Amino acid sequence: MLKFFMPTKIYVGKDCVLENAGELMLGKKAFIVTGKSSGEKSGALGDVIKALKKEKIPYYVYDKIENNPEIGDMAKGGEIAREQGCDFIIGIGGGSPLDASRAIAVYATNKDMELYDIFKGEYKSKPLPMVAVPTTVGTGSEVTPYSILTLHKEKTKKSFSCPDCFFKTAFLDGKYILKLPLQVVRNTVVDAMCHLIEGFTNKKASPLTDYIALEGLKIIGRHKGEIEVGWLSEGACTELLRSSCLGGIVISQTGTTIVHSMGYGLTYFKDIPHGMANGLLLYEYLKRVDKARVTDCLSALGFDSLEGLKDYLKKILPISHSFTDEEIYKFSEISIKARNVASCPFPVTQDIEIEMYKKSLQ
Ligand code: NAP
Ligand code: FE
Repeated sequence: MLKFFMPTKIYVGKDCVLENAGELMLGKKAFIVTGKSSGEKSGALGDVIKALKKEKIPYYVYDKIENNPEIGDMAKGGEIAREQGCDFIIGIGGGSPLDASRAIAVYATNKDMELYDIFKGEYKSKPLPMVAVPTTVGTGSEVTPYSILTLHKEKTKKSFSCPDCFFKTAFLDGKYILKLPLQVVRNTVVDAMCHLIEGFTNKKASPLTDYIALEGLKIIGRHKGEIEVGWLSEGACTELLRSSCLGGIVISQTGTTIVHSMGYGLTYFKDIPHGMANGLLLYEYLKRVDKARVTDCLSALGFDSLEGLKDYLKKILPISHSFTDEEIYKFSEISIKARNVASCPFPVTQDIEIEMYKKSLQ
């Protein structure tokens, strides 16, 4: 049986926030969730505040979101949203502020919930309603129900999701990407590429997700030269926002695979950005996947061979880390317990993950 659920309304194009100001207003007072640069530097916070002033809606700016948001900070954010009397959320930023918006929305309305009960995905009260303005080109968080949180207790990152955790509306405007540092553009494009490929090769893939995944990969393929040289027009940025959004739509249906769960260890223990961590593992993953599926991905991206993709990723993802056997064992011990091991198209054991880590990193 085919099931496809994606309830977020999406606007794409220049000035879509200002031109659709009314769509931002989901209540009487907005809680704006963002990071230090993603809001201000991107210009998105300025546009959102202009829109709120136009509609005479008061707001509170919570710009304390750090990369890879930590669960305890989310509960604090929820408490502040409650104290401020905010009844809806505007998330502005990359995956970190957007995932944080979702968690804060749940904690804000579920005052007495135990911290870790957020992972159960069933809440007494519905989360606050939310809209999203993405400022990176990777996670597609604006159209997924997932929030990925850092969990020091388990020394990894873990996700929760629920049907009420989708944003009501997402606003995709390429002008917000123009000041994104080049390495963040590259890391986040690779995250989108991984979502599209992991969705396409996933056990839960369907004809509908296949079609969307290949369209998303074609967009990245068209712009891969510009991503490598580091010159991207506003139009190209809007296109890349479209591809990351398509990646989000795909993984909302299929979930990700072990590329993501293995990547969490690299982020948690070595502080390697999320997209880069996935990109380092992608080649070893694809080597183990059905060749026909891999060929479809490669031709959508415009590569003649898997080696061509490997060389490209090497050029745009420079790393200077070294990894010991002990570290790799520790990563594998944690990642083998992840839920998305089950969605992987080939059988996975801890030994296979160790081999993949070693070949990717050493
Ligand atoms: P991010 O952690 O949100 O942001 C990376 C960096 O880019 C931050 O330092 C941020 O600065 C800066 N930045 C963002 N937008 C900017 C802009 N337009 N101009 C200048 N600087 C900007 O990166 P991300 O890769 O988008 O998100 C990663 C997170 O998303 C991870 O926690 C990952 O696990 C999660 N994720 C979620 C999903 C999902 O389905 N929900 C999928 C994949 C990944 P500031 O911090 O100063 O603002
Ligand atoms: Fe991701």
